[in-house]
Amino acid sequence: MTYENVRIHPAVDGGVKKGSPSFSGGTLSCKCATDKVEVKVGAQTAHNHVCGCTKCWKPEGAIFSQVAVVGRDSVTVTSNGQKLKIVNEAAPIQRHACTGCGVHMYGRIENKEHPFYGLDFVHTELSGESGWSEPQFAAFVSSIIESGVDPSRMEGVRGRLKELGLEPYDCLSPPLMDAIATHVAKKSGALPA
Ligand SMILES: [Zn+2]
Ligand SMILES: [Zn+2]
Repeated sequence: MTYENVRIHPAVDGGVKKGSPSFSGGTLSCKCATDKVEVKVGAQTAHNHVCGCTKCWKPEGAIFSQVAVVGRDSVTVTSNGQKLKIVNEAAPIQRHACTGCGVHMYGRIENKEHPFYGLDFVHTELSGESGWSEPQFAAFVSSIIESGVDPSRMEGVRGRLKELGLEPYDCLSPPLMDAIATHVAKKSGALPA
């Protein structure tokens, strides 16, 4: 049995394309026809994945987003930054979205106590360059139901993710969950800082 007709996200529906180890960044552009917001990402990304949560920006029709992290020092708004607005100032990840087209250009964590402080979240599909790190897993898979995906479709969705080599998790991947727990344990003193 195959699940090849199950659509996940345009960047992976035709198969996951490997990133290039020598790739060192590119420019993300929003989807406005004119006066595009441009964000320069000056490094290769890490922990790229598809995400089923209801907060990440998804392209039209996709049930997952594709999102990766990169050091915040590598992220620079280079054009039309005046069009950006934070979607929700109170959210742990402040998503800077284009007010023209709605695309999220980068998500930033301002709370220095957050386990992922120092990392920005970016959608590398907004870049014309190829070589970005490939998605490695699927996060928050069950959450697509919150966006309106019928629960009866979940077997097909998880089947397709496995076919693509994107292990489905209903939270983050084990290495990222371990990183969060380690951060918490070091803060509480359960582990040496
Ligand atoms: Zn735009
Ligand atoms: Zn998400």
